[in-house]
Amino acid sequence: SIKGQYKKYFAYYDDVLRSKLLQEQKIVDSMESALADGEFEIYLQPKYRIRDRRMVGAEALVRWNHPEWGLQSPAVFIPLFERNGFITRLDQSVWDQACAVLQDWKKQGLPDLPISVNVSRADIYHMDLTDTLSGLMRRYGLNPSSLHLEITESAYTENPQQIIDTVSHLRELGYIVEMDDFGSGYSSLHMLCKMPVDILKLDMKFIQSEPATLVNQEIMRFIINLAHLMSLDVVAEGVETAEQLDRLREIGCEYVQGYYLAKPMPVKEFEQLIKKESCDMR
Ligand code: C2E
Ligand code: MG
Ligand code: MG
Ligand code: MG
Repeated sequence: SIKGQYKKYFAYYDDVLRSKLLQEQKIVDSMESALADGEFEIYLQPKYRIRDRRMVGAEALVRWNHPEWGLQSPAVFIPLFERNGFITRLDQSVWDQACAVLQDWKKQGLPDLPISVNVSRADIYHMDLTDTLSGLMRRYGLNPSSLHLEITESAYTENPQQIIDTVSHLRELGYIVEMDDFGSGYSSLHMLCKMPVDILKLDMKFIQSEPATLVNQEIMRFIINLAHLMSLDVVAEGVETAEQLDRLREIGCEYVQGYYLAKPMPVKEFEQLIKKESCDMR
């Protein structure tokens, strides 16, 4: 009967919900000790200039190295930490690790590549961002221009004026600000024109759209032209094939990040790579 069917579905969704809540509870129970024990580790993914295939920087992406569960992707824990507020503590640890790496490269005489870190909305609203970052610059003897800040597009929609003020201040201090995932959410072109960022990261949904339609190609071309008109550099995310790279080159995109070029990797592995490849020294 239909009634019987519903019962079965409800029982099913009940189970799904219960196991999801259980999983979340386990994450919440272990996050503090995981942070203290250094289980959160940064991976680095190179960013390349298309024209000469030179590496121009890297993005730090966090991984949770759990002793029992293994390597966990941010998709599993970042949304939860953004809801329960733990993200501000995790991000500070990520930025600290990124700065330690930058300092170490200086000592080793490795190329002076900037590292981009992700900044959550909570970091802007619930932390003294400029204070925290200045502290890191002092502790590790770094110049703000060596740390790029990626702020996801959706963060701009809630209280645009506060974000505009924060971003302006950060840029006055010398940090480079990137608008992450542009085109993924609901923010408008108007918002882009008001937001004082340096770099626009084009969301991977455009380049990965299947089939690759003319309309999609023209939307990307339009965004890239607009960004260049505003003197912003454009980085396309999620480039997985040679064809996608060719399409981006054809529409005037200059920088790329994606599995086709390199996946995120542990810091030691990344260092081997920069010793092999030619990088763009700043
Ligand atoms: P994001 O900042 O937009 O980072 C790009 C994501 O795309 C990364 O996923 C990266 O591994 C993935 N990616 C790179 N190239 C390709 C490709 O060619 N194809 C595909 N399909 N994916 C590609 P990841 O590392 O799983 O991170 C997911 C998101 O989690 C990030 O998106 C960012 O929003 C968040 N996140 C990661 N690390 C941190 C962090 O330390 N702090 C904060 N607040 N958020 C973080
Ligand atoms: Mg990012
Ligand atoms: Mg993002
Ligand atoms: Mg992104």
